[in-house]
Amino acid sequence: MENIYDVIIIGSGPAGMTASVYASRAGLKTLLLEHDAPGGKLVKTQEIQNWPGIVETGGPTLAYEMYKHALAYGSTFDAASITSLTTDEANIHTLTAADGRIYQTKVVIIATGTQERTYDLPLRAKYDGRGISYCAVCDGAFYRGKEVAVFGGGNSALEEAVYLTQFATKVYLVHRRQEFRADKIAIDHVKATPQVELVLDSNLVELLEEDNKFSGVVVENKQGEKRTIPVSGMFVYIGSTPRSELVAGRTPLSKEGYIQVNEKMETEIPGVYAVGDIIDKVLRQVVTATGDGAVAGQEAYHYITHMK
Ligand code: NAP
Repeated sequence: MENIYDVIIIGSGPAGMTASVYASRAGLKTLLLEHDAPGGKLVKTQEIQNWPGIVETGGPTLAYEMYKHALAYGSTFDAASITSLTTDEANIHTLTAADGRIYQTKVVIIATGTQERTYDLPLRAKYDGRGISYCAVCDGAFYRGKEVAVFGGGNSALEEAVYLTQFATKVYLVHRRQEFRADKIAIDHVKATPQVELVLDSNLVELLEEDNKFSGVVVENKQGEKRTIPVSGMFVYIGSTPRSELVAGRTPLSKEGYIQVNEKMETEIPGVYAVGDIIDKVLRQVVTATGDGAVAGQEAYHYITHMK
């Protein structure tokens, strides 16, 4: 039993990292697993203005501080992409990674978040990472002095459109409706930024290339009128889908696929908790993710104490 962890957390966004702090401070043998850079969506967010106590900070800065904190009390970290979760009769969970590594644990905390939605259009896969981006913080500087398009009408699209104006000479913000679902402060900011041109009631219908390089987009409005917008790059912020495959069919999900948990962050699988953007809830923010992680980390302690 000595190779068995008390707690394995899958995903190192704010929810997973907070669960790591709580579980390790409770003395549990804790492992944090991540298939990407630690920090989750925080790493891809330029500015955070709603983390209490700090009026404004950078997403990567806060992610790095949280990562140090997550490992400060004895938790360990491993890079792994988990592809399956099974549970035996004694409620010991086995996690299998894509490269075949196997982990065993008494408690699993799922903090896998969401996967960015994208367009199913010809040329999209060809230009992913070569003109089509999902992260303005990572790729914005490549578009200094150029024109870009941003797609979406939520907080991410509006905030990142404004962020991109420090590099791009012009940002077309394309949204499929007239109304934005983003917060008022983000809408006001976009409207007050002259380099952002709003292209509303419009959908992306075609990606363009020239000389084997991404060269622009064609959008179509509700009247069926098409418009070609020549841009050097485009940023996709059209929402995301939950990464809940590990427990699909074993515990209830919402119709969109988010994991349903109780107030203790418990799923219906004994010893399996879910936290952060992956759960069915009303507000997906850093601050709510950390609250979820705290509850699950603490509840893991009670569960394991009861198990013994
Ligand atoms: P989101 O709020 O789900 O917005 C996605 C946007 O993409 C919506 O405007 C939606 O249009 C549009 N969309 C969806 N499918 C589309 C398609 N197939 N074609 C074209 N457009 C499509 O996603 P998000 O902006 O990434 O935000 C995710 C969560 O994080 C939200 O809860 C958000 O509030 C939160 N967040 C908060 C902050 C902050 O507090 N500062 C910053 C970033 C994100 P419709 O509006 O027509 O549905």
